[in-house]
Amino acid sequence: MFNVKVIPISIKRLLTLFLILTILTCSSFLIVDPELKSSVKSRIQTVVIDAGHGGKDSGALGSRAKEKDIALNIALKLGAYIEDNIRDVKVVYTRKTDVYLELGERARIANENEADLFISIHVNANESQRPFGTSTHILGMNQEGQNLDVAIRENSVILMEEDYQTRYEGFDPTSAESYIMFSLMQNTYLKQSIEFGSLVQDQFRERAQRNDRGVIRQPLLVLRETAMPGVLIETGFITNPKEQEYLLTDDGQNIIASAIFRAFRDYKELIESRSRFEYATPEKEEEIVTMNAETASDQIIFKVQVASSRNKVPASPASFKGYNDIEIIEEGRWYKYVLGNSADYNKALEQCVLIKKDFPDAFVIAVKEGRIIPLGEALIEINK
Ligand SMILES: [Zn+2]
Repeated sequence: MFNVKVIPISIKRLLTLFLILTILTCSSFLIVDPELKSSVKSRIQTVVIDAGHGGKDSGALGSRAKEKDIALNIALKLGAYIEDNIRDVKVVYTRKTDVYLELGERARIANENEADLFISIHVNANESQRPFGTSTHILGMNQEGQNLDVAIRENSVILMEEDYQTRYEGFDPTSAESYIMFSLMQNTYLKQSIEFGSLVQDQFRERAQRNDRGVIRQPLLVLRETAMPGVLIETGFITNPKEQEYLLTDDGQNIIASAIFRAFRDYKELIESRSRFEYATPEKEEEIVTMNAETASDQIIFKVQVASSRNKVPASPASFKGYNDIEIIEEGRWYKYVLGNSADYNKALEQCVLIKKDFPDAFVIAVKEGRIIPLGEALIEINK
């Protein structure tokens, strides 16, 4: 995202930025070969599953559990589901045992295997015991001043690498200032990464009954080093007693792994059906257009959800930061407050990025016949 124009930058910050960019341009380790980033493949043949942390790096600690153990268990279960059910996909693991791996090593494994998707499995943590739920992180920045907790915590693993100071040329994962350059970087795989992330969160929310904290952009080093669509999944909070218990059980781990598995299966279907669509002959494309016109009444529309509540709040500009086009969708015992009207998923995504400046938790939803349907389902349907 090139959103630097909205950031008021002082001379000092500009100098820092210049310094960081110079350092990055000179550092061979931190820059991914542009050749590798050139194209997104139309088939999903290789997936890299990365169990976060390992060995001397325990990751986040709960009262009873270590992040590295839960991440490994879920990663192995996820890999087994894919191996058993999807024959034409090769699964590559960055680790299958309790060993320490440097961050660059994880990316190297993914790049050398020319993976089509990179899935990094982690467990979240917070100083408070209260937060709980799942989130899927993609590479990027939402806005200046955003919460960088996940990036700071997950990137800090590089501090364990022996020569991190020379290798990362002074990049300090704990300093918010270091992250300015991420807002200047293009994420070549943004669309695919958001699509997979949305499918994962759909599964967590709809099927696994987990609290959905959304698809969130974070400046994550491990995703920046990998030359393919990728996500870092926080499968729950180890610091929340109830969620820690859940993540420690075989059942809980199976549910999380199978949710990610179904999202992967849907993503593969989405990417591969899209490429079939794109290569359709002109006659066929015309046919599809006509069909859409006939079925316009049950067409899928993408909107941006900005809030939800149990008690109905009037959709007035005063309640919604000046927005005067809020629409209310009733769903069960919930009222969802939504904006926009687009048959084009990418347009809705772009709109969502803008709306996030006012409503940081906003996300894209799909509506059909006045009802919200799972986003993953909608994406597959519109690409059929
Ligand atoms: Zn982690």
